Amino acid sequence: MIVYRNKADLGIHLEKHREQGNCIGLVPTMGALHPGHASLVEKAVEECDLVVVTIFVNPTQFNDPSDLEHYPRTLDQDLDLLSKLNTDVVFVPAVEEMYPQGEKERSFDLSPLDSVMEGASRPGHFKGVAQIVTKLFELTAPRRAYFGQKDFQQLAIIRRLTELMQLPLQVIACPIVREKDGLAMSSRNKRLSKEERKLAPYIYEVLQEAREMRHALDPGEIRDLVEQRFDEKEAFELDYFELVDARGLMPVEQWDASVETVGCIAVQLGGVRLIDNLNFA
Ligand code: AMP
Repeated sequence: MIVYRNKADLGIHLEKHREQGNCIGLVPTMGALHPGHASLVEKAVEECDLVVVTIFVNPTQFNDPSDLEHYPRTLDQDLDLLSKLNTDVVFVPAVEEMYPQGEKERSFDLSPLDSVMEGASRPGHFKGVAQIVTKLFELTAPRRAYFGQKDFQQLAIIRRLTELMQLPLQVIACPIVREKDGLAMSSRNKRLSKEERKLAPYIYEVLQEAREMRHALDPGEIRDLVEQRFDEKEAFELDYFELVDARGLMPVEQWDASVETVGCIAVQLGGVRLIDNLNFA
């Protein structure tokens, strides 16, 4: 496994493989790796000739400076794990490497995908995601790029970006990996206190209850039920719960078997913001 810190060296390495016709797989991450990330890397290793994992805590996608400051960083452990997973290349750039001074910000029309849910709660978040992901796509020119369904809205936005840029790459969506108690794995879970960690599986429990109730309640009533469930628990603050169509992310008002519907949720637990989602089919 080779670790690169600058773009030029990474570029030379990948160019050689491209010339040989190798399929390059990209797995972008912000580090603090857990089995959710590992599932993406494993799939990439299975399907590609050369796997590049990037570790970069992208400052432009954080709208909350305290969230950026407290984002967990565990590089040595991450490299250890990636090596065990047979990763070929890890790219760990410094902020200046990805955002050279004086560089112009890129602009993409992601509307309305970027204005709902995470986009509404975290202004500028997807603008930042679009900046970094398009840079990584250009730099590595992958044939396949792996993303988790955990960040469901991000996945829709990345699909839109590849269409806008007409990139010849396949976006591969990987299922959410959960803890035994149902909590979706996340680097942010490390920031939960012992007490909060015990409470956190409630998010998935409520999502499951909501899905079970879809035969008895209409989408508006499901939204009310979820709100009520979080009103009942003081430790949580519900940021949003939305039932949306899987591609356009528009709110679903009536059940329609032909529309794939996903329940997306964001909550604050203590000082930690957690997101999750579940397919309501
Ligand atoms: P992050 O490091 O949080 O930016 O995540 C990097 C990638 O891993 C993103 O595509 C995430 O959607 C994905 N990911 C994070 N957590 C999980 C999980 N629990 N299951 C599956 N994929 C995940």
